[in-house]
Amino acid sequence: MTHRITLIPGDGTGPEIVEATRRAIEATGVRIEWDVHDIGVPALQKYGDPFPKSALDSVRRNKVGLKGPLTTELGTGMRSVNVALRKEFDLYANLRPGKTYRGVRAPVGNVDLVIVRENIEDLYAGIEFDLGTPELARVRAVIEEAAHTKIREDAAIAIKYISVMGSRRIVKFAFEYARANGRKKVTAVHKSNIMKFADGLFLRIAREIAQEYPDIAFEDRIVDNMCMQLVQKPELYDVLVLPNLYGDIVSDLVAGLVGGLGVAPGANIGEDGVAVFEAIHGSAPRYAGQNKVNPMALMLAGVLMLRHIGEREAGDRLERAIAGVVAEGRDVTYDLKADRDDPTAVGTKEFADAVIRRLKG
Ligand code: NAD
Repeated sequence: MTHRITLIPGDGTGPEIVEATRRAIEATGVRIEWDVHDIGVPALQKYGDPFPKSALDSVRRNKVGLKGPLTTELGTGMRSVNVALRKEFDLYANLRPGKTYRGVRAPVGNVDLVIVRENIEDLYAGIEFDLGTPELARVRAVIEEAAHTKIREDAAIAIKYISVMGSRRIVKFAFEYARANGRKKVTAVHKSNIMKFADGLFLRIAREIAQEYPDIAFEDRIVDNMCMQLVQKPELYDVLVLPNLYGDIVSDLVAGLVGGLGVAPGANIGEDGVAVFEAIHGSAPRYAGQNKVNPMALMLAGVLMLRHIGEREAGDRLERAIAGVVAEGRDVTYDLKADRDDPTAVGTKEFADAVIRRLKG
């Protein structure tokens, strides 16, 4: 079977790591027809529109996208591409695995976690009221009356909301992911001891959904305690499900634990099955066109993508090949060398060549 996948090269170093990843994915033998489209700055330059309809239609049609990083140009009035894609396709689940690989310098070993972050609600929904605005005064008055409390007049206000629907679908996603990927436990992370209603709702729904998955263990943790435990004994955890804000922070904590953003993949997945896979890092524009940066994070996103489209065995083989090259430490990019000025560091393309040799060897 041939899979049709939307390929978004991105900009800066994006096209180089996308090409390296495309070649590595093809070397697994999985047949893919790539539907290549620009979004963001390259699309703005070519078509005068950062979100061409043809690109969005392609993602909608194929339901799977592999995306290189995109520069958010300040001062162009361009919305963040990630925010725009999230809104367009209701990409409510942000999947961020964090795994230690031998050869990647990391502060702790033995991490193999998956963070499932809710992507739409919570304090990040963008409901804010700025100082000096009439809206702030109205909102403050309503809150003071309804909550029988006083809010200082020099305070700005941001609203946090967490819904039953939003909690249900993200927790279900976490359990379904755990089941499909042979994971054993889901931990819901919250602060319901303080935010009894919003986080309390999230926890209550998580407990309810957990009943539907007797084959997967369930527990919950308070977010601050979770952070300490992740540093001290990360091996105790498996899949974590979190509301938006905690998910954002904890997923970067975990990325730090496994060696930084340069090796961390991610995916954003939506209600009607649309899934966009990418590296967590940005477009590193100062290295653009130099065949220098590490394509590992995007390749690992490719591993997630292969598993997502049902090509689990090919995904596993690609992951083993990447892990092998990195563990050997010879054909790796500068950032994976003990000394970043090591003259034996290879380029983006040569890293991909080494992965492909392992896949074929
Ligand atoms: P960045 O991640 O692009 O780069 C920061 C530094 O990290 C680089 O200078 C480089 O030293 C290192 N680095 C990053 N990726 C690397 C790789 N693959 N291999 C080796 N080293 C690597 O972060 P930034 O400079 O803050 O952002 C640049 C642009 O990317 C901004 O416009 C930002 O908005 C955008 N961005 C896009 C995405 C995305 O598309 N998903 C994510 C984050 C940032």
